[in-house]
Amino acid sequence: GRASRNGGGANGLGVSFEFFPPKTEAMEQTLWTSIERLAPLSPSFVSVTYGAGGSTRERTHATLARILSETTLNPAAHLTCVGATSAEVDAVVDDYAATGVRHIVALRGDPVEGIGATYRPHPGGYAYSADLVAAIRARHPEVEVSVSAYVERHPESPDWSTEIDNLKRKVDAGANRAITQFFFDNDLYSAFLDRVAAAGLSIPIVPGIVPVLNFTQTAKFAQKAGASVPPWFAARFEGLEDDPSTRQLVAAAVCAEQVLDLVDRGVTDFHFYTMNRADLVYAICHLLGMRSAKPAPASGEAVAA
Ligand code: FAD
Repeated sequence: GRASRNGGGANGLGVSFEFFPPKTEAMEQTLWTSIERLAPLSPSFVSVTYGAGGSTRERTHATLARILSETTLNPAAHLTCVGATSAEVDAVVDDYAATGVRHIVALRGDPVEGIGATYRPHPGGYAYSADLVAAIRARHPEVEVSVSAYVERHPESPDWSTEIDNLKRKVDAGANRAITQFFFDNDLYSAFLDRVAAAGLSIPIVPGIVPVLNFTQTAKFAQKAGASVPPWFAARFEGLEDDPSTRQLVAAAVCAEQVLDLVDRGVTDFHFYTMNRADLVYAICHLLGMRSAKPAPASGEAVAA
């Protein structure tokens, strides 16, 4: 039932987990092993991404449908408006709602030509995520809406007032919460919260946490996303390129340090970019005091990676 699709830790902390739709049978297996391991932690919601330019539309939908039919988790569906008409996007929103999805992460998306290309709104589409938020609100008032936030500014925002004005437009359009792009320096997050508060915005700004499964990959991804990698952070992974088991231990320690420091700063909700892997995130949630009634066995992915 709907009421049981509500997580929430006994210790007042809440977590959510982000997954991407699998491309192959093997990836599907990995995803479901991870979902089964993380589900007993009773996350507030689990979100499923929408591939660049809608490339995973069917797979995103299929993953959401399977979560709804096989678990009691509360799924959130990502949706972007790039490269599609508003009628096409509305149809996806209606399909989500008809399937039983009650939470959408509303995004603009990146130019289909790749990050770095100039974004151009589709002539018949929603231009920015604030427009998508308004459309979802109008069509399905019962659907919860989350949006993005960038503690280091979105790469296309020339200054902070542009950035905060955009967040304000999304809040005014009806967004319930923002989830941040990942970051490694918690001071950036605190400074961002100050800017948000100064603008009079009061929606939760949930930190997006990325566990570093592979530093080289994460650094590349960070550069594309406009997230900085502080030298002290990079130094922690130095020389571990060929040492996966030490890398995993360091990754857990580094992520724990970040998350526990955020708790000290008053953060109560965390969104984990899981990359469809469970073990590291499960360990961090354990450190946050979360316990599952019937833990599934560790997958051994940490040593296998
Ligand atoms: P917006 O909030 O629309 O803002 C984008 C830029 O446009 C900003 O610089 C803003 O200042 C500017 N802007 C806004 N309104 C106007 C206006 N009226 N005129 C001029 N400029 C304006 N991408 C995917 O493809 N699939 C996903 O599933 C996905 N999930 C994500 C989840 C999270 C939590 C985050 C943080 C990002 C995610 N992304 C995803 C990436 C996202 O699509 C990109 O970062 C994209 O570049 C911006 O999308 P947005 O919704 O943040 O944009």
